[in-house]
Amino acid sequence: MSSAHHPRFRAFTPRDLDGLLRRVLLTDDQRLALRAVSSVLPFRTNAYVVDELIDWSAVPEDPVFRLTFPQAGMLPAPDVRRMAGLLARDAPRAEVQRAAHEIRMRLNPHPSGQLDANVPVHEGQRLTGLQHKYPETVLVFPRQGQTCHAYCTYCFRWPQFVGETDLRIATDDVAATSSYLRAHPEVASVLVTGGDPLVMSTAVLRRYVEPLLRIDTVRSIRVGTKSLAFWPYRFTTDRDADDLLRLFEQVVESGRHLALMAHFTHPQELRPPVVREAMRRVRDTGAVIRCQGPLVAGINDNADAWAQLWEETTTLGAVPYYQFVERDTGPQGYFGVPLARGHAVFRDAYARVSGLARTVRGPVMSAMPGKVCVDGVTEVAGEKVFALHLIQARDPDLVGRPFFAAYDEGATWFTDLKPAFGASRFLPGLEPG
Ligand SMILES: *Cc1c(COP(=O)(O)O)cnc(C)c1O
Repeated sequence: MSSAHHPRFRAFTPRDLDGLLRRVLLTDDQRLALRAVSSVLPFRTNAYVVDELIDWSAVPEDPVFRLTFPQAGMLPAPDVRRMAGLLARDAPRAEVQRAAHEIRMRLNPHPSGQLDANVPVHEGQRLTGLQHKYPETVLVFPRQGQTCHAYCTYCFRWPQFVGETDLRIATDDVAATSSYLRAHPEVASVLVTGGDPLVMSTAVLRRYVEPLLRIDTVRSIRVGTKSLAFWPYRFTTDRDADDLLRLFEQVVESGRHLALMAHFTHPQELRPPVVREAMRRVRDTGAVIRCQGPLVAGINDNADAWAQLWEETTTLGAVPYYQFVERDTGPQGYFGVPLARGHAVFRDAYARVSGLARTVRGPVMSAMPGKVCVDGVTEVAGEKVFALHLIQARDPDLVGRPFFAAYDEGATWFTDLKPAFGASRFLPGLEPG
């Protein structure tokens, strides 16, 4: 690659929003509504997303535009009006902040007990930068990795990015993490996540990863990232790209599995040649790229998008992993797809792809009891029901047991479901809600 092609990363923030939106035909009111949304929910993008991924001739329908730019429907209309009113009269910053905070608190900022139910306690101390929900896997949230190269509008971890510091999950206590993992030999897999840990320099990422290589019971390391889609130069021409790949090699050479858990939302993200080059470089280290992402209204709620995404990532040597259901937080009202429709989209796409791409599981809800997979809609003893099972569970005894919920065309989340056949629970040990 020529030296003329070493783009330097620079984030666009809410301050840049008006300038960026000059490319779109909008009325002043529409523009103000989008600014109102971006004062409550996080907004961040970059030149690669804007210039290489978004098809501006298709805006506002363009899926990658919708993936990163605010839309008026993301908040209840009265909240948009209230924020727009404050911005229009140049209200004091403190007043805007207070209103934004109030609106955020009504958006279920930490669903499924994320701030308490999953935080492990070790030697009398709560390790707030870790989550340990399933026996064999621990999540680590490095303090310096709690941002992204761009933010997804539908992000379920949105409170991490809007300055609500009391709502942030993060650690830089590498020693405590190691000590916890040594005390828990059942943990075979560590998932470094965020935000996006690949916003960190390789030197900082190394401080989190290398100590894991001294713990024999840790057999796989995963890195959760959207950087292949939002900043593929992280793996090609960034100053420490080669060092990052060297770190991946080190993990593989230690005899462990390194999984790059790549977040892809739409096949359009795979188009630029630099993504393919980045994926090739990652694979050359011996790491495996596994792809996951949520099904979201207005962006990828059609079988064409998913069939292409699964087929194309498989062609590029990656492995489709999970298709998620949009969580019950933030702008779920705008992006959520009912489970019945979501499953129809999944099934339609799944039926069209090669068996090699049918490694994907979904649609999956990462809910309080575990990862709930919607297997389908069927009829049992004359009652129309959802068939479901847990892929992962806090209580491993519940994994893989089929259960049934009463069919509800509008249900969008596990908490909307009621046991079928008038039962009081789904399974012994699995209650509704
Ligand atoms: C999804 C998830 C995991 C990983 O589950 P796998 O099925 O092993 O991919 C671990 N912890 C939490 C909290 C999760 O949500």
